[in-house]
Amino acid sequence: RVVGASVASSNEDALERALRPKDLDEYVGQAKAREQLEIFIGAARKRQEALDHVLLFGPPGLGKTTLSHIIATELGVNLRQTSGPVLEKPKDLAAILTNLERHDVLFIDEIHRLSPVVEEILYPALEDYQIDIMIGEGPAARSIKLDLQPFTLVGATTRAGMLTNPLRDRFGIVARLEFYSAEELGRIVTRSARLLGAPIDEEGAMEVARRSRGTPRIANRLLRRVRDYAEVKGDGRITRPMADKALAMLDVDPVGFDVMDRKLLEAIIHRFDGGPVGLDNVAAAIGEARDTIEDVIEPYLIQQGYLQRTPRGRVATATAFRHLGLQPPQAGDL
Ligand code: ADP
Repeated sequence: RVVGASVASSNEDALERALRPKDLDEYVGQAKAREQLEIFIGAARKRQEALDHVLLFGPPGLGKTTLSHIIATELGVNLRQTSGPVLEKPKDLAAILTNLERHDVLFIDEIHRLSPVVEEILYPALEDYQIDIMIGEGPAARSIKLDLQPFTLVGATTRAGMLTNPLRDRFGIVARLEFYSAEELGRIVTRSARLLGAPIDEEGAMEVARRSRGTPRIANRLLRRVRDYAEVKGDGRITRPMADKALAMLDVDPVGFDVMDRKLLEAIIHRFDGGPVGLDNVAAAIGEARDTIEDVIEPYLIQQGYLQRTPRGRVATATAFRHLGLQPPQAGDL
């Protein structure tokens, strides 16, 4: 029961939603976040209370939106979905809050992008299920308090550090989503292929999984492209050689890096002698926004040990040099 979900504009959006797991049992991986949520959801249900507010953080495509839907499903309540940039004025948020039913889940994506005036009215809502709104204008204006139904805010952000302290402090449950292992992504790819009606063998699924940057959204996207390739170039069956050829055509290299990943590593190595180099210089060199580098490109490169974030800037590791077919500098050279 999703109220006010954004309208799916493209076929890709519709497919993505079709592949979304519906409950915690179907949700692969993220053992830590899942265990926490299972316990707290169970307790909230038992006491017939609203679940405490939940903050989910981690790179895009790891399942934050999916998990928010699952939380609502497991609680047996409605989900209202919006995002930080969409809520321009306090009254935008007030309208949503006052329409929530008892124990509903409000999902705010990109919650770090709430404007300060909107964030301000969220505090009493989170703390006391109350909001202060202004009625009228000029000298006749006055503020009135409105009671809200008890509800659960699920906030999602790419980096917890981008939230203001007062907002972060109001979340009782904070879960960090991690990159998925190849084995977990293999299960996701196999499940998605089944839902899409695409024949795939285990090695084919693992090949897609290994090259998906630890990210379910990418795994599902690559699977669809590989399926197209297998239908046109073969008999439709997705095997390892078929996946390999399709992914090579898509410029996804053997460890799953795409064009942007390689561009970033190459820039640091060739233009800045492997670093350390500041983020702004890297951004200028590759013509990409700082935020995209920090939220989308870097986290996986760092997790895989190709890049390090040091106080003096970004450094390409020996693994990165070797990956690009280069001789890493000797320890003494750095
Ligand atoms: P985020 O909100 O973190 O950007 P989403 O929740 O939109 O990510 O997830 C992107 C897609 O990846 C979803 O459509 C879903 O199909 C898939 N997905 C995410 N997490 C999982 C998971 N744990 N198990 C299976 N599929 C997942």
